[in-house]
Amino acid sequence: MEDIIIIGGGPVGLYAATLASLHTLKGILLEGMDTLGGQLTSLYPEKDIIDLPGINRVRAGDYIKDLIAQTMNKPNHFDLHVHEEVKEVKAIENGYEVVTNKASYQTRFILITTGMGKFTPRKINLPNEDEFSNIYYSVPSKENFINKRVAVLGGGDSAVDVANMLSDVALEVSIVHRRNDFRAQAHSVDLLKEKRVKIYKPYLIKSLEGTDGKVNKLTISHLEVERDDVLPVDAIIVQYGITSSPSIFPVKTNKLGIEVNNFFETSLPNVYAIGNSCYYEGKVKNLTCGFGEAVIAITKIDQLLNPTKNIPVHF
Ligand SMILES: Cc1cc2nc3c(=O)[nH]c(=O)nc-3n(C[C@H](O)[C@H](O)[C@H](O)COP(=O)(O)OP(=O)(O)OC[C@H]3O[C@@H](n4cnc5c(N)ncnc54)[C@H](O)[C@@H]3O)c2cc1C
Repeated sequence: MEDIIIIGGGPVGLYAATLASLHTLKGILLEGMDTLGGQLTSLYPEKDIIDLPGINRVRAGDYIKDLIAQTMNKPNHFDLHVHEEVKEVKAIENGYEVVTNKASYQTRFILITTGMGKFTPRKINLPNEDEFSNIYYSVPSKENFINKRVAVLGGGDSAVDVANMLSDVALEVSIVHRRNDFRAQAHSVDLLKEKRVKIYKPYLIKSLEGTDGKVNKLTISHLEVERDDVLPVDAIIVQYGITSSPSIFPVKTNKLGIEVNNFFETSLPNVYAIGNSCYYEGKVKNLTCGFGEAVIAITKIDQLLNPTKNIPVHF
């Protein structure tokens, strides 16, 4: 039986695995997708993160590599299983059985770090959308867009960040948003003009045309005046957000996340939730907040597993 199973291999799960090894706990981490890193890998691998303490600027994809290296360097590291989605959690004597698409495991404690669950990007919802291979829902690498005409669809933080980022390498970047106001950080919106991103708002996406499986023409309709614009494109990046699967854990949840107490205990005994998966008054859904939660949860779990141990506070 494992001491602890960490469910979710995003940044918070990876850091929790590092801490658990430092506490000499025994366990595994299970990640449902093919790659570790959560949102940083799936949604913004090329974005520069600038709000981590002591790290001036780091590319999200590089930061995940460092988090993985940090946990794998430990002599008693947790095995990190990818493509292993947790489907069910069942109470058993002295713990839980965790059932995945591949196997089942027994553990005394569970740490949920599933973010918003298994996520899929929202699509444009046009009938021929799936015919084109140059419509993307995240930016795998900036290199794909060098000297290309790129249209970014959406008006939130991700869309604006992607438009600004690609303006450094692309031939031309347009952003198409259906409202008059962007729902993004003001300084990022200001940057759009500085970076000469072409702004189309309020516009709806009307149609896609292309040849040989590649879209090359995007037609958009103005929402307030009768006018269509045609944008010649080499690539489209859809940033309409993501939908997530409902939580599979039978724990008390509200619409913002899994309810937890000061130790990140959920309504189920010995099941903890941290990172974007959890919610409590004052919660901030970012990296440093999630990392702090990992410290508190792992320390508490070690205390409960080893009541007579002198629990380490730093390493
Ligand atoms: C565009 C964008 C930019 C951002 N920029 C910043 C920033 O600059 N600084 C900052 O601090 N924060 C930023 N954030 C927020 C930050 O990314 C999140 O706070 C962080 O990713 C939360 O980490 P997590 O590990 O809790 O969850 P996630 O990153 O969501 O990872 C959860 C993981 O759990 C896996 N999972 C889910 N369900 C299961 C299951 N049943 N079985 C197995 N695995 C499962 C998922 O596949 C995923 O890999 C940004 C977010 C976005 C969208």
